[in-house]
Amino acid sequence: MSGFVFNEKPLRIERGEGPYLYDDGGREFLDFGASYAVTPVGHCHPRVVEAAQDQLEDLLYVQASYPVDARDDLYDRLAALAPGDVGNVWLCNSGTEANEAALKFARSATGRSKVVATTRGFHGRTMGALAATWKDKYREPFEPLAGGFEFVDYGDPEAIREAVDGDTAAVLLEPMQGEGGINPAPEGYLEAVREACDGHGAAMIVDEIQTGVGRTGDLWAVEGHGVTPDVLTTAKGIASGLPMGATLCRDWIAEDAGPHGSTFSGGPVVCAAATATLEVLVEEDLPARAAEVGDYLRTELAAAVGGDVREIRGRGLMVGIEVKRGANRLLPTLAMEHGVLALPAGRSVLRLLPPLIVEREHCDAVVEALAEVIS
Ligand SMILES: *Cc1c(COP(=O)(O)O)cnc(C)c1O
Repeated sequence: MSGFVFNEKPLRIERGEGPYLYDDGGREFLDFGASYAVTPVGHCHPRVVEAAQDQLEDLLYVQASYPVDARDDLYDRLAALAPGDVGNVWLCNSGTEANEAALKFARSATGRSKVVATTRGFHGRTMGALAATWKDKYREPFEPLAGGFEFVDYGDPEAIREAVDGDTAAVLLEPMQGEGGINPAPEGYLEAVREACDGHGAAMIVDEIQTGVGRTGDLWAVEGHGVTPDVLTTAKGIASGLPMGATLCRDWIAEDAGPHGSTFSGGPVVCAAATATLEVLVEEDLPARAAEVGDYLRTELAAAVGGDVREIRGRGLMVGIEVKRGANRLLPTLAMEHGVLALPAGRSVLRLLPPLIVEREHCDAVVEALAEVIS
């Protein structure tokens, strides 16, 4: 039964460097899935590897109630980079845990229980985050889930205005849906969510686990919408693949967050890797690169396959191609015949989440491969 939860892929990966993965035969693959957006600065970035190695030798672990430099440095860095005043940081080990914390904090700070989530939203697979996740396939076998969750149509400001009331602890949503098919928030939508939350004293929680750390062309996707949430969750690429989630909160949430904790919160090695990742992102201006290269990628895709697909969506280097028939069937050919790794998002969307260091020539290779596979 070992490994029984995962469908294994026919590739055995041995090594990673920059935008490339290498299998046990030494074959090179251009990694445009980045294992679900987990390598924003590329595989095994030397700065990240060195920071983790140095920390590993000094202190591998100590409980979070002892302050250590590696953790304090990350707290400072995250507070400085957070949108607006969302600078209180809770660290954990995954995206779903970051959302569990966000939900607990919002319930504690508001003293209310109702949570408004959205159709096609994905927030993780533990019992609370799963209750905010839309797809029946992920939910049904595990019911009953946590109570108090209500769904509204993603992108509909009127639905949000109707659903948020004096019983609402939080609205939880992605600024661009990932797993749900790469669906960007329509113009004005996040502002409407912000207004509805302000009107009733509810917390606006944005799940930036996939969109965050530069992917959409801003360090945080909400910045592109000019909206400051009360809570922002991030994970996936923040520590370049070492397990980390973070829940960033405004003061009013942090001040009354309730009892919460985790043994591995803010382990020094993971913190060192996260700080190095964020340093590289900022120094190399990777969000701006993601915006520029992402525009190029989408333009080239439109020219090459625009007529053969239903839609090309996204922002920065978070790109969805809605194909006419199943997306999953294209992926093995793309990998084995063209050496390009990509991902699905639902049944009909092919998803690209490459490292933010990719160049135009990498995009050209992927566009050429996709043109052959799709047509
Ligand atoms: C991946 C993801 C999660 C869950 O993160 P895990 O680390 O797998 O628990 C939650 N929300 C979004 C938007 C995600 O993309």
